[in-house]
Amino acid sequence: MYENQEQKLRSVEAGAEAGADAREGMRARLRAAITDKLVYAVGKDTAHASMHDWYLATALAVRDRIVDRWMESTRETYRQEGKRVCYLSLEFLIGRNFRDSVSNLGLMEPLVEALNDLGVDPDLLREQEADAALGNGGLGRLAACFMESLASLSLPAIGYGIRYDYGLFRQVIVDGAQHEVPEDWLNVGNPWEFERPEATYRIGFGGTTRDETDADGRMRRVWQPAETVIAKAYDTPVVGWRGAHVNTLRLWSARASEPLMLDAFNHGDYVGAMAHRARAEAISRVLYPSDATPAGYELRLRQEYFFTAASLQDLVRRHLSRFPGLGNLADHVAIQLNDTHPAIAVAELMRILVDEKGLAWERAWEITRETLSYTNHTLLPEALETWAVPLMERLLPRHMEIIYRINWLHLEAVAALPGADDRLGRALSIIDEENGKRVRMGHLAFVGSRKVNGVSALHTDLMRETVFADLHRMFPDRITNKTNGVTFRRWLQQINPRLTRLIIETIGPRMRDHPQALRDLEGHADDPAFQRAFADQRLAAKQDLARLIRVRTGVSVDPTAMFDVQIKRIHEYKRQLLNLLEAVALYNAIKADPGAGWVPRVKIFAGKAAASYAQAKQIIRLAHDLGAVINNDPEIGDKLKLVFLPNYNVSLAEVIIPAADLSEQISTAGMEASGTGNMKLALNGALTIGTLDGANVEMRAHVGPENITIFGHDAQEVAALRDAGYCEASTLDRSTRLARALYEIETGLFSPDEPRRYSSLTEAVAWRDRYMIAADFDAYWQAQRDLDALWGRPDEWWRKAILNTARMGWFSSDRTIGEYAQDIWRVRPLVHSA
Ligand SMILES: *Cc1c(COP(=O)(O)O)cnc(C)c1O
Repeated sequence: MYENQEQKLRSVEAGAEAGADAREGMRARLRAAITDKLVYAVGKDTAHASMHDWYLATALAVRDRIVDRWMESTRETYRQEGKRVCYLSLEFLIGRNFRDSVSNLGLMEPLVEALNDLGVDPDLLREQEADAALGNGGLGRLAACFMESLASLSLPAIGYGIRYDYGLFRQVIVDGAQHEVPEDWLNVGNPWEFERPEATYRIGFGGTTRDETDADGRMRRVWQPAETVIAKAYDTPVVGWRGAHVNTLRLWSARASEPLMLDAFNHGDYVGAMAHRARAEAISRVLYPSDATPAGYELRLRQEYFFTAASLQDLVRRHLSRFPGLGNLADHVAIQLNDTHPAIAVAELMRILVDEKGLAWERAWEITRETLSYTNHTLLPEALETWAVPLMERLLPRHMEIIYRINWLHLEAVAALPGADDRLGRALSIIDEENGKRVRMGHLAFVGSRKVNGVSALHTDLMRETVFADLHRMFPDRITNKTNGVTFRRWLQQINPRLTRLIIETIGPRMRDHPQALRDLEGHADDPAFQRAFADQRLAAKQDLARLIRVRTGVSVDPTAMFDVQIKRIHEYKRQLLNLLEAVALYNAIKADPGAGWVPRVKIFAGKAAASYAQAKQIIRLAHDLGAVINNDPEIGDKLKLVFLPNYNVSLAEVIIPAADLSEQISTAGMEASGTGNMKLALNGALTIGTLDGANVEMRAHVGPENITIFGHDAQEVAALRDAGYCEASTLDRSTRLARALYEIETGLFSPDEPRRYSSLTEAVAWRDRYMIAADFDAYWQAQRDLDALWGRPDEWWRKAILNTARMGWFSSDRTIGEYAQDIWRVRPLVHSA
């Protein structure tokens, strides 16, 4: 009886539109549940509980309310025999989970009231959660947005990844330089996950292969690994919008197959007895920082195989618990490879089908090719993943044999193409023979997939024309475009409640469920009262950010200045250096004529540099050296400030984005696959200054060319310059502003203690200019001055800002996931009866 009552109430509460009575009831029940958890799960009494204890208790109380829906979702998935999406990603950049879950369950209001009843500040409580920084940047955040959208669209899905003990490093700035320290996010406990001791799999490495005849007299290839590691599952429920559907994020942790070598231990070799354990557990210890430079380490390859093999074993076991064989696998599972990191899945699935299940090679290949699809995330040649054949042979001997056979059959097909020659064979081969025999993981993923997608229209076109040009000619239907998106629940509704409230007061609540409804704001773009309200909510967010800037950097900034924001991983192609050089030029211009009515600006930077990426780390250092001079120059005052906020992560992004007036998306054209930071900022009403790169191209089409500031060479022009043998020097003669800024940096104006500190940066611009900084500088300078002028016409500025928010609806990850579901996965939403 009681069980049913409780369940009934829960389904009402998740409906979010519960009446006032139900809400009162919910508030009381949450209050009771939190105190209950505090005492019986955390083991503290209310008088002595710390804020962290309260956080744990509250999270556990909320988690209880997810579990029924979660189990119901799983049952329905089985019952309806639909297809399930398996999203394999080495990164899930989730950030904090608390607000996501509470808000999607529709429990925010009663929970805040319950906490207030208990005398606990909900904002302070939320701050207790550590960021799950299990990703580097855009690629990992995309996986997190996709998980949320999959659940919100009631698409049955499971995300597979690694439960890193330490996420991406925490960035600490000492004397202006980046230092990396471990991000010990699990140390404070993770109340959202469920340990699954029953879901463990054995993952082999190394060893030998041989032929064996089985009981039916059939020859089989057998792999005898030399080493076995255990993969253990941890599940986190992912709650969809309005709590209708809950999916699973399953992250693998590595354990030794034997916890202790008791023999060695008993003989007094205590360290040796633990050594194999340390080696096994190293696999899930750290995330490699490598969003655009590959980490060519053996441990990285072990990570990739570890999580791919565990995930495939898991989904095969699930399939075989319902069906007699794997012949219909593609009807029930769609596996998406997020970049090439899980590309070994092509060989592993073949190994399972052929070696373990005894399917014929041709049939196994059909099933593999129907089940897998691959998302490409980069065209940068240095970031395309390859593994040395000898390493693969040593670590994954059977997989290497399988890859050779796949390649042999593939090259037979290539040889049969009209006009096939040696060049074509070499270009299409999965093995790169020219650089010391390496396996091209992109080629392997391409050949083994049903669909291969780019992440913006431009990026997809460039894939067809460059990296995969020959493969595209061979398989003209395989490449498809799926422009990235972001989840509006998190990136508008949760992070910007002020703007959300204003929008709903103005056009009603439809936008909560239908991103495209934001378009109704268009009719208000010219309304002076609405413009004022729009500007007021921005000012409030800027005051919040100004406080954070003072606390974290000691710099005071004027909240009424233009907040000019560049937040993303530090990389030469993203051109933070272009922005810094413009800052120096602006500084010079202000000094030359301080009374000229300059528009006050705060340039805000945040981002991490890969630990081994020297140039990127120098860019961070330069930002600090410039800030130290500019921010302390009395002649400059509030006309220009330059701040670098340390340790960029999801939670920091959530504070900066609502406060941004201007969004810097200035990558060298042709180099940014999509960008998603650009979308989050424009959605919140920042104007974009950017190149025609990645998704900026489509953003221009959607918001209208008059509402975005585009400058510089486009991808074709960049390619033409390169073909013509462009290198700097000539452009420098034309741009005196840039030449002077470079000279000042080069000669130590901003680093008098070490005048030559930045010569590697300045020389890269002056002599090679691979990233076209000199080529684009003047256009960028002019675009910035045009924006200064626009700031002086607030009615125009705010009109454009409002139109940006109004027209960004298409960039919801719900739209992206809808396209994947239809064109790539062929999955349909689950129908929930309740
Ligand atoms: C959105 C996001 C990114 C991606 O930013 P880009 O500007 O597209 O590179 C990276 N890191 C975090 C924390 C994000 O939220």
